[in-house]
Amino acid sequence: MASSEETPLIPPGTDAVELSESMELRLYKQSRSVAAWKRFCAFAFFGLLFILGFNLVFLPRTSLSRDLRRIHGDRLTAFDVQKTFLETLEQENNAREILKRYTSENHIVGEGYGLVEYTKAKFEEYGIKTHVETFYVWLNRPVANHLKLLDSDGNLEYQASLKEDVLEEDETTGDKNSVPAFHAYSANGNVTAKFVYAHFGRVEDFKALKEADVSLEGKIVIMRYGAIVRGLKVKLAQRYGAVGVVLYTDPYDDGEIRVKNGYKAYPDGPARNPSSIERGSVIYFSDIPGDPTTPGWGSTKNAKRVSPQDSMPKIPSLPCSYNDIKPILAKLNGKGPNLGWAGDVDEFDYCAGTSDVDLNLYNEQDYQIRPIYNVMGEIKGIMPDEEIIVGNHRDAFIVGGAGDPNSGSVALIETARGLGALLKKGWKPLRTIKLASWDGEEYGMLGSTEYGEKYARHLQDHTLAYINLDVGVAGSAFAFKSNPMFMELGHKVAKEIPFRNKVDSGYSLFDYWSEQNNATVNTLGAGTDYVVFQEHLGIPSMTMEFREDGVTDPVYHYHSNFDSFHWMDKFCDPTWELHSTMAQFFGLLLISVTEQEVSVLDVKTYAEQISKYYYDMIATIPKSWVDYLLLFDAEDGQTPAYMKNTIKQLQMAHGAPRLKDLMALVESNIKGLIEHATIYQSYKEDLQDKITEDYPWFRLFHKVKIAVQIKVANLKLLKLDRLLLFKDGLKNRVWMKHVIIAPSREKGYDGDILPGLHEAQIDGDFDEFVRWLVIIGDKIKLVGDKLK
Ligand SMILES: [Zn+2]
Repeated sequence: MASSEETPLIPPGTDAVELSESMELRLYKQSRSVAAWKRFCAFAFFGLLFILGFNLVFLPRTSLSRDLRRIHGDRLTAFDVQKTFLETLEQENNAREILKRYTSENHIVGEGYGLVEYTKAKFEEYGIKTHVETFYVWLNRPVANHLKLLDSDGNLEYQASLKEDVLEEDETTGDKNSVPAFHAYSANGNVTAKFVYAHFGRVEDFKALKEADVSLEGKIVIMRYGAIVRGLKVKLAQRYGAVGVVLYTDPYDDGEIRVKNGYKAYPDGPARNPSSIERGSVIYFSDIPGDPTTPGWGSTKNAKRVSPQDSMPKIPSLPCSYNDIKPILAKLNGKGPNLGWAGDVDEFDYCAGTSDVDLNLYNEQDYQIRPIYNVMGEIKGIMPDEEIIVGNHRDAFIVGGAGDPNSGSVALIETARGLGALLKKGWKPLRTIKLASWDGEEYGMLGSTEYGEKYARHLQDHTLAYINLDVGVAGSAFAFKSNPMFMELGHKVAKEIPFRNKVDSGYSLFDYWSEQNNATVNTLGAGTDYVVFQEHLGIPSMTMEFREDGVTDPVYHYHSNFDSFHWMDKFCDPTWELHSTMAQFFGLLLISVTEQEVSVLDVKTYAEQISKYYYDMIATIPKSWVDYLLLFDAEDGQTPAYMKNTIKQLQMAHGAPRLKDLMALVESNIKGLIEHATIYQSYKEDLQDKITEDYPWFRLFHKVKIAVQIKVANLKLLKLDRLLLFKDGLKNRVWMKHVIIAPSREKGYDGDILPGLHEAQIDGDFDEFVRWLVIIGDKIKLVGDKLK
């Protein structure tokens, strides 16, 4: 066949030729191909080895910090996380829209389920796993009330409206579900009696009345809000024999912005609307917060219940406005001596005397066990055995609650949005984050306390910090309160937040804070949701707010219908910038605690503060006490077991020890604590430097060693504050366990430092002072030894 384009290149029959080849040839060919294969394999093997070796030698050096995140598929560094979070919140500000939603329906404890769903939906929209946890709490709802002034014949002369004005400009004030004026946990009652004005109802006010021979036995006591927490006012009045209490708001206490000083009242101006009424709880939450029928354990559906008898007043009480109280107080004019008290009620001379006429106070409350709802979001961390909780309460005493608490709720939701933006980028927090929208704070920290009591064990084992936000914005004065271990952190984070749109100028929240009060960090107290964490469980906490400055800010109508969206939008934060700043600060605090590998807890500052607290306290005791003999004997069977070691030690060294000997011992413990804490702080900072340092691969062992050291350090720091709990608690307040921080026994809202010592000093009780000095001295030694 002639060759053409159709001619096959391989002629037919070739296969046949190959098949006919001899077996020998085939074997030969086979062995040749095996050799080639082996050569190829060897070449490939050494080639790969070479490439691997080459790569290992020139492998990029990485830090343990980066490795830890990469193993978990997270490619963001701690710096990236901070940057993305802040940018997300700076580029968009949803505060107005969120606040509008939260102030649109009645959300007193247990009500407003729409806001439970809204909060849950928001968390879920940002990729956060969320559930609603229900507790069953014994609480009251207002049914009926009145306050009537009777004339000398017992006929009605005047009746207080107990209502706030409905304003055309402010739609919330006319809401059909408006909450009546009442006190949470007030006693039912219908009393008719003569009345007395007792100023702020402080210990010293009652003493002054007693010295002026004004008896409160069988009287109704009128006091104004302020200075101390309202429950303590009622408690003291009850102790002095009163049968009922009326609390009113005196605009005198509003500072500069008063009608008296020429300012117009809300809604025409920044001064107080004279019809405003402060609702509030009168339960003794500075003794113990939470459901009074489950003290110390969670109010679950079938929880054991006890009688609430000693945790709330037995006499009825009502809140009242300035407008309403005027005709009543006017009846007291000239009825007693002037004790130097003053106020803004022109019709009244602020004397200490008893009325000739009667007041009839009627208070009807419906008490039941009712469900309350905490909304809980969670983002699992890379190190899931450590967690941070951020929380804000959702419930308000009124339909609005723009300042309290929903300006804080804005920060919580905006923080969730920032975290959502990070999650979208594949971020995993180092530590587990829990977001809590608490219910029932207003009645007495119900939601947070029941949660804390129910999960006490887990929380004490795993929770590194609790970050609280209640009122986020109610004025322009920045305030930050914390466990001393977060003092420096508060400053550091505030420096990262650009403020007042001065992004390029470098002006920060810290600069603003410094101008205001030298960036002072205050001590924690009571009256908001951190109490169960810090003061019962020993979990280091912090809280923050923009509060009313009392000088230029519009008056904040606390727990009144005028704490509304309209007031916030028109008077308090019309640009919504303070809300955004608060969200940034709150969220960045959270990120700073979760994202630093070595725990941020600052033990050095804690030790120094404890030392300062101690010496400040010692300076207040009577000089003569120092030489008093200690009347405790290690062997007498009267001395509590926890005091025996110290007393024995002192007896052996001094025979008959005096207070100064005990003080010397405590002071040497403090010295030891400062020494160990200072060394430990620099060791821990050094560790943090090491974790961010880059190492070549062959120093893997070194990295493992650092990882182990960090784990050990974190475990030690995680539980450090728990060492400062005293199992028997404070005197008459056994639920309050922390020996350094507690709510003030006298004031309620304020914090008290070294409360056991302070109370003994106030009471002039030397033995009690000694007892607390022994307890605190031991705890200080324990912490110092732990840090050795
Ligand atoms: Zn609040």
